[in-house]
Amino acid sequence: MKIGCPKEIKPQEFRVGMTPNAAREAVANGHDVIIETKAGAGAGFEDADYIDAGARVVDTAEEVFATADMIVKVKEPQAVERKMLRENQLLFTYLHLAPDPDQTHDLLASGATCIAYETVTDRNGGLPLLAPMSEVAGKLAPQVGAWTLQKANGGRGVLMGGVPGVNPARVVVIGGGVVGTHAARVAAGMGADVTVLDMSLPRLRYLDDTMRGEFKTSYASKGNTAELVAQADMVIGAVLVPGAAAPKLISRAQLSTMKPGAALVDVAIDQGGCFETSRATTHADPIYEVDGIMHYCVANMPGAVARTSTIALGNATMPFMLALANKGWKQACADDVHLLNGLNVHAGKLTYYAVGEALGLDV
Ligand code: NAD
Repeated sequence: MKIGCPKEIKPQEFRVGMTPNAAREAVANGHDVIIETKAGAGAGFEDADYIDAGARVVDTAEEVFATADMIVKVKEPQAVERKMLRENQLLFTYLHLAPDPDQTHDLLASGATCIAYETVTDRNGGLPLLAPMSEVAGKLAPQVGAWTLQKANGGRGVLMGGVPGVNPARVVVIGGGVVGTHAARVAAGMGADVTVLDMSLPRLRYLDDTMRGEFKTSYASKGNTAELVAQADMVIGAVLVPGAAAPKLISRAQLSTMKPGAALVDVAIDQGGCFETSRATTHADPIYEVDGIMHYCVANMPGAVARTSTIALGNATMPFMLALANKGWKQACADDVHLLNGLNVHAGKLTYYAVGEALGLDV
């Protein structure tokens, strides 16, 4: 199969769909890999790395789209890319179609077969191609929160780990899933006093069993949440209700109960945010203040560490990419229901129920 990887063109996107290692594996499996020049530059991969891996580097995205049987990307195809997709071509990338009718209509019109990373599942009920980005965002959250807490950034001027004779920062993580667990571990590793809140008792039990006192757990009742938030130097929002907008867990009125200059890091901002006062920000201008409380609400946090994120995503997508290339999408999806769950669009038809429901389209 001819596998093509264009350079990402969405603003501020520095990741790339295939690492040189993924290209090497594909070539070793007998496939041709075609990479657009400088596609990996934002993640620190040179054209020469891809050539060493056996890939062919071409000058334009047009050449990639015109030649490849399968396109591997990171972000949803932009309008100019969607025009280049064609019938029977396979697209493997994040799509997030439910809030995006324009993209959905273009993909339907293209006749291509589109498999979305975000709806591929695993046998534990998880989302294996979303998890690596949650791991990255979780580990980043205390790092950016610590920066937000610094005085020059409008924060409280509190050091995460304290020093001998001075208490560490109090960090509250709301939601103890993939993001929350990684955030709590890093915050605890920085020396902060960390409490994780979740509504799932089995999840809290699991965390308590496995984290051996690294951080505390608490049930996410309104009362517990309000009490802990009022004492916190930093609150990290990491909740997810699958398929729904994030619930608002801290109201504007509650900000006045918090310590002035405390930091709110809303990782769940990509689902609308879990604080009433959250609005999406960018890496270029990540923080803002409401009622004396500093907010960090970047919707694509993994972009800040494009190299780590690219490699993490590539590790997760590689087995699926190879299955699609080796067997063709029909056989690969017939053999693996979890990959089949990724199928969103095929030959002008929507094939993913939740997207059809969100957009009022037939599935
Ligand atoms: P997850 O499913 O692994 O964990 C979510 C946790 O939230 C679960 O343990 C669940 O029990 C808990 N929860 C749900 N409702 C709750 C409530 N009302 N109170 C307390 N806990 C509650 O999800 P995840 O992978 O950790 O993702 C968390 C959020 O981070 C998602 O919204 C995801 O889209 C987002 N995310 C954002 C970025 C970014 O760049 N901003 C990157 C990755 C993930």
